[in-house]
Parts: sequence; C-alpha cells; structure tokens
Amino acid sequence: MNYISTRGKIKPIPFSEAVLMGLASDGGLLLPEVIPDFRDRLSELSRLDYRELCCAVMQPFVDFSDEDLTDIVSRSYEAFTVPEVVRIKEAGPYTVLELFHGPTLAFKDIALQFLGNVFEKVLSERGGSLNILAATSGDTGSAAIQGVRNRNNLKIFVMHPAGRVSRIQELQMTSVLDDNVFNIAIDGTFDDCQSLMKSIFSDLEFKKSFSLGTVNSINWARVLAQIVYYFHAAFRVMERTGAGDVSFSVPTGNFGDIFAGYMAYRMGLPVNKLILATNSNDILARFFGSGDYSCGEVVPTVSPSMDIQVASNFERYLYYRCGSDPARLSSVMAKFAQQKRLDSTLLDDDPDDVIAAGRATDEETLSTITEVWHRHQYLLDPHTAVGWKVAGDISSSSPVICLATAHPAKFPDALPSRLMKDAAKHPVIESLTGSETRCSAMNCDIDELKKFISNGVAD
Ligand SMILES: *Cc1c(COP(=O)(O)O)cnc(C)c1O
Repeated sequence: MNYISTRGKIKPIPFSEAVLMGLASDGGLLLPEVIPDFRDRLSELSRLDYRELCCAVMQPFVDFSDEDLTDIVSRSYEAFTVPEVVRIKEAGPYTVLELFHGPTLAFKDIALQFLGNVFEKVLSERGGSLNILAATSGDTGSAAIQGVRNRNNLKIFVMHPAGRVSRIQELQMTSVLDDNVFNIAIDGTFDDCQSLMKSIFSDLEFKKSFSLGTVNSINWARVLAQIVYYFHAAFRVMERTGAGDVSFSVPTGNFGDIFAGYMAYRMGLPVNKLILATNSNDILARFFGSGDYSCGEVVPTVSPSMDIQVASNFERYLYYRCGSDPARLSSVMAKFAQQKRLDSTLLDDDPDDVIAAGRATDEETLSTITEVWHRHQYLLDPHTAVGWKVAGDISSSSPVICLATAHPAKFPDALPSRLMKDAAKHPVIESLTGSETRCSAMNCDIDELKKFISNGVAD
C-alpha cells in the first residue's frame, strides 16, 4: 500500500515514509492510495482478540512483516491496564467504549504508544535519529512523551504555555525525567507555542539538519491505530445485541478520531451513524448541520481538548467529498485559506450521509455528567459527556456506542460535586502530587528555542 497526498503533488510513498513525513511535503495530508475492503472478512475478524485484530486491520496499510507488526503491537499495548486494551461497559441506554486505560488516561495513548514503536522500528532499519517537536495545550503532550520516552534514537521537545495548562496536565509532562524528554514552558499562549512550531518547521534547513519530526494528529499512523477499536467495539455490541449494525458517538476536536471511524465504515464495518459531537467550538457541527464551515474565535470550555476551530484532519474527509480529485481539493482549500469560509457548494453531495453532528454547551455538558452519574452510576469526563449529550439529540435505530476519550480523574475541576471528584480519583493522577519535575522556562523567542534544541540534540 502506498500513500498519496490530498494535494496530489508528491509521488506515492510507503507507510514508513508516510509516518516520518507527517504532513505531506506539498502541504496536504497523506491518505492510502486505496481503502482496503474487509466486507468478506468480518466474521473471521470478529473472532480475534484486540491485539490480533490490530494486526489484521493494520496489515494491508503497513510495510512491515507480520512478525514485526505483531511485535510492535504487543509492545505498544503492554502499558495498558485492562486485558483487551479498551473496555466496554453498559451504562443506561448506551454502550461506553473506554479508551482511557493507557499511561496518561486519555484515548491519545492508543495511537501515540503505537506511533512511538513505529518510529523506533523505522529508525532502526534506516539508521539516523528523529527529534520530535510538539506544542500542546494539554493532553497531546503527555501522551506523546509517554509514547517516546526512553526510546533509542528519539528525543522529544514539548512546548506548553507556562501557567496555562492544568496542574495535572503540567505534572503529567514535567514529572517524566527520562534523558530524551525536554519540557519547555513558554512565556506566552498556546497560539504562541504553535507559531514557534510553524517558524521552526518553515526553516527547512534547520528542520533537516536537526531531523525534526512531529507527532500531531495528522500523522497517518495515529489514524490507523484508532480504526481498530471501531471494529472491536462493533463486533462485541453486535454479538451481544444481535443488531446488524451500530452507531458511534465521538467527542470531536481535530477530526482524527471520527475520521478513523469513517475509514472503518469505508472498509466495510456496518456503521449506521457516526455522531460527531462538538462543544461550543462548533464549526464541524455547523458544517454537517447546514454546510456552514466558517472560522470563529476559539472559546475555552470545560472540555479543553476539543477547543479547536479548524480541525487539522478535516481535509482528509473533504478530499473524498471532492471526488478524490486533488486539483479540486486544492482549489477548495486555497479559497478557504483566503475567505476563512468553505464554499460547500463546491463539494459533492454526501453519498453515504453517515456523519450526523451536534453540539453541547458547557451547561449541557455539566448537567449530563450529573444526570448520568445519578441515573446510571457512571461517571463521565467532560469530553465523553459532550458525546453522550449529542447522542441523545440524534436518532439512531441501531445500538449507540459512546467513545469515552478520557478518565474523569484527568478533569476533576469539571466534575460538579465533591462526591464525584472523590469517585473519580485514579492512582496515576494521585501519584503525581509531590513528584520530582524537570522543565525549562523560555521566552517566546525563536532563537532561544533553536539554541535549546541544538544543545538538547547534541546532549
Ligand atoms: C484529543 C481529544 C479529543 C478530540 O479528538 P480528535 O481526534 O482531535 O477529534 C477528545 N477527547 C479527549 C479527551 C482528547 O484528548
């Protein structure tokens, strides 16, 4: 399987190269040349355990041997605390798919543990090293650090805005003391961190001489790892209920998670609806509701990992809505960059109509947490609560699976009562208090950052 760019200006490349490239070098996003069809293999796949299923689903997409892939998968999910990597629970009207049993208690671990192992494997074959630079507003940083800590030939530099991430998120990053991990607290906002990233990556000479790479959610390997749990959960729920298909409710920010669900659907998984749930940063909900895709200002909410306006993975979906025509997609994106508004009349009609969208305000999110706790004795984190609320607004004739993207202990401030805060407690979070930390404070200054990176790389 080779990978192409949505903008059509690179030659097809194999998986290993696609993973190192991250963003396509023509500014587009990478996609598999064809989407493999699993329709004839569903009953065979349904008999596999989670790790076997990973190998079966991923095999057509990668350029690793079966043996190497099995090894990468088994190492990626060693640190998960439930036997099947994810856990399925019934709660009232829905099935909850708990994706937060990895080292940082958020679903991002499922993809970033895998990505760390893929990087290590590719580097061991090609030689050389990779230095990852990331900017985080919270969750991605810690999951990326856990994915690459203590690995050969990899270093990671993570910038966060000083004093603007939660105490828990900060400790989850700065308490990792491995030699290859560098935390940087930037005197500025998350946008300042992102513009530092952009300046560094636009300095192609610097990027090349320091072998800089990224781990953000546009990396295809992250999407790939996430496809697997859609299959796993659908199989378990169809077995239990006898239903012929299922729906998923997906708390959405950068459109990475739900795009994995869309891929699963295109691969032949019987999906009735993919319910896209946003908080008040609702550009995607507006697009699927009325075709209006216009940027607003990002507003802070109780589900901070979804406080995003322009979703970086959305271009992948738009590519298919442009008839898989890179020239058409490129002109749609160029127009969007100019007008900050997408002209949806330029897109094909949605042939499958599988994505339905809605939004939840903070007030609705908090009352959902309280209601589900009292009625069903299940404690939702604020991101999962957005998905639960929107699932209730959209009718589905099939069983609904709500993706639980974080453990409630990660976001105690959003839990409405003392009782819930106590019930949420998790040893991974508790153990952070008082731990030794390491972090470098820095001005928002590109030269200072470059100097820090070159010293760190030389270390
Ligand atoms: C990142 C994140 C999301 C959003 O996922 P996307 O792939 O960006 O749409 C939702 N919930 C939590 C807890 C997250 O960390």
